[in-house]
Amino acid sequence: MATDILISEVGLRDGLQSIDAILSTERKKAWISAQHAAGTREMEVGSFVPAKLIPLLADTAEVVRHATSLPGLRVAALVPNLHGLRDAVANGVHKVTLPFSMSETHSIRNLRKTHAQVIEEIGRCIEFLDTLPGERRPQFEVSLSTAFGCTLEGPVPEQRVIGYAVQVIALGVDEVCLSDTTGYGNPAQLRRLVRGVREACGADRLDSVHLHNTRGQGLANALAAVEEGITTLDSSLGGIGGCPWAPGASGNIVTEDLVFLLESMGLSTGIDLDALIEVRELVQAALPGVELFGFTPAAGLPLGYRPACEPSP
Ligand code: ZN
Repeated sequence: MATDILISEVGLRDGLQSIDAILSTERKKAWISAQHAAGTREMEVGSFVPAKLIPLLADTAEVVRHATSLPGLRVAALVPNLHGLRDAVANGVHKVTLPFSMSETHSIRNLRKTHAQVIEEIGRCIEFLDTLPGERRPQFEVSLSTAFGCTLEGPVPEQRVIGYAVQVIALGVDEVCLSDTTGYGNPAQLRRLVRGVREACGADRLDSVHLHNTRGQGLANALAAVEEGITTLDSSLGGIGGCPWAPGASGNIVTEDLVFLLESMGLSTGIDLDALIEVRELVQAALPGVELFGFTPAAGLPLGYRPACEPSP
């Protein structure tokens, strides 16, 4: 069944990357299998970075191989550069995301690259992708990170975000994603950015947003995105990841609450909320001491709750 909104689960990458807990490869595989069984159809399962930088993600290749064995699951991974992209392609990833920080200060600290150097790297990635036969070429997305503001630079000019979106699409990138890495965004800003990027690049070049709930604006931003026609939303199970600057705040928006928001509005996600809450229990058991977030799992489903695929009588 076609769904209205694709929820892309990023807990295994963005979530785990942000916390200090070790999750064994077997437990990562069990999480992916369980969430796939609950109806999730896209998961970002890791990052192809040198293992010495993020040891927690050293098993990405093995985790990807497991994920790609599950029918109907689109497997995504983060790559910082051409080297990571080659590894992702070698392991059969369906969608790769390269982060491009709209704050040059953040870009230099995180990826050790100026904006000009990131653009060059993206160009090299495109050259490599163009050598691949169609069936081996993954979807190539550039995530415009810190697009809503940066903890180091403060406000990020919207024209800068739109300008870089145009530039990377012209290079041959398939899609851009608007990423509120820092949880600075608000719905009005999100609407302006979505419209601005789509007007400049074409509506089909921006389908997804990546939101954090650092200041509690995550679901408001998600709703604004859906109303603007965005069809892919990143979220993490239990809002795993947290935020070092905001104790008590979740990392990404919480998958369970996002599914409830969309399904109760009549927008299908394909995800069975009861089954998803069981996955949460599995992950919590595997990560003792790690705080999971979310209102829906705590409160339970309302009496008479019906998912979008079961319209009320
Ligand atoms: Zn993030």
